Amino acid sequence: MNEKWSMPEGMTEDEARIEALRCLSCKNPRCETGCPTRMRIRDFIKEIKVNRLEEAYEIINSCSDLPYICSIVCPHERQCVGHCVLGIQSKPIDCGKLERYVVEHMNKPIKIEKRSSQKVAIIGAGPAGLSCAKELLKTGCSVEIFEAEYYIGGVLTYGIPSYRLDYTKITRIAAELEDLGAVIHFNTKLKESEIFDLKKQFDAVFISIGLTKSKQLGIPNESLPGVYDALDYLKAVNLDIKLGQGNRPQLSGTVVVIGAGNVAMDAARCARKDGAKVLVVYRRSRLEAPATKQEIKDAEAEGVIFQFLNNPVEVLGEEKVEGIKVEEMTLGAPDASGRKRPVGTGKYCTILCDSIISAIGQDPEDIYDKHVLATDHKYLVCDGLKTNIEGIYAGGDIVLGAKTVVEAMDCGRQVAKLILDNK
Ligand SMILES: Cc1cc2nc3c(=O)[nH]c(=O)nc-3n(C[C@H](O)[C@H](O)[C@H](O)COP(=O)(O)OP(=O)(O)OC[C@H]3O[C@@H](n4cnc5c(N)ncnc54)[C@H](O)[C@@H]3O)c2cc1C
Ligand code: SF4
Repeated sequence: MNEKWSMPEGMTEDEARIEALRCLSCKNPRCETGCPTRMRIRDFIKEIKVNRLEEAYEIINSCSDLPYICSIVCPHERQCVGHCVLGIQSKPIDCGKLERYVVEHMNKPIKIEKRSSQKVAIIGAGPAGLSCAKELLKTGCSVEIFEAEYYIGGVLTYGIPSYRLDYTKITRIAAELEDLGAVIHFNTKLKESEIFDLKKQFDAVFISIGLTKSKQLGIPNESLPGVYDALDYLKAVNLDIKLGQGNRPQLSGTVVVIGAGNVAMDAARCARKDGAKVLVVYRRSRLEAPATKQEIKDAEAEGVIFQFLNNPVEVLGEEKVEGIKVEEMTLGAPDASGRKRPVGTGKYCTILCDSIISAIGQDPEDIYDKHVLATDHKYLVCDGLKTNIEGIYAGGDIVLGAKTVVEAMDCGRQVAKLILDNK
């Protein structure tokens, strides 16, 4: 693979030991309060200090089903690293890189403790579905996964670019699950009525179908050729690079990316790596951008330009995109999200461009042909990850909204526990 699409290397043994030795092994480890799965960070770092990688690996795997993935893609600056006490005065411990170091250097077979013989159907093979499957298989349950696509991983495969997450780590998960006896039905996109049919054959069903549609911009001319939605664009790029399948659009000239979340950063960096001049247009300021500081820094280092406080109002062009009209914004009082509200100034300008990628958020797909599952704007409404129908559970983005890999994984683990406890 071309170097620009490859992931950076992890830590060497020396680098890991030096970093681990900086850790204070705090009595009340703040790093762990920042982790949605309460990973026992202090304890695994203690083991690295004395080179007991096997013990560190056991600790990590007792808290996480996708440790390699999370060690790389978690927004650490907001989670463990952002909470590390050392960060108050100097450099926090790089917990994610230390976790990656351990899981890259150890690999042990998964222990099975047979205590259940339930049959469980999992709909969707993203992080939530995969972690639920793994937890259940470890206890002897039989698991069948129904996945709309011809590959597993969900966003991990089609959304996150290869320079951030290598596909081989995802195929390793598929092999691991199949070794444990999982049956994976690919190319199987289910509707609500088909999920209810499955309920008759399985003891429990877990719906983890994520958010697979990009939000619409809602401005004139957004269907002109040359306007891409970020998920479609990233899917084409990633399946081409990771699986050699497909023909990604080779964007050239000037590309405007609308939005400043992690999806926008991925789309912007991919277009930039393909040689385009890329401008990210965002209606609030840098401070309110949902992407992590690191993602923005990485994009800027690669030459992506940011134009803050600009709100797109119209796509310009006759037969294809020729530009975008934007309104200059200022910031008002905080809105419901707690961020300062963008307020129009009435001043407009035009940005000439050849393509536009819209990355302003994701929505759920409409699978509801029976209208029995309780929903709110197509999100599943749950009471502690249980839907309104007994034996049907749900979790990950389809319940939480657009969140993170680790939160989706945590839902999968929690649902497995509910199923095993017959709750
Ligand atoms: C481009 C992008 C980059 C991101 N980067 C990060 C990051 O760096 N770090 C981070 O923590 N989070 C990141 N996120 C968010 C994170 O990926 C999601 O929160 C997480 O993947 C949600 O997991 P999930 O299992 O709920 O759903 P998904 O990952 O969306 O998986 C859902 C699966 O269900 C399948 N499916 C959908 N409908 C059906 C159906 N009807 N029948 C059968 N199968 C179906 C889909 O094909 C998919 O495989 C990113 C999101 C995007 C879009
Ligand atoms: S807060 Fe920082 S220093 Fe303290 S245990 Fe966690 S990683 Fe180590």
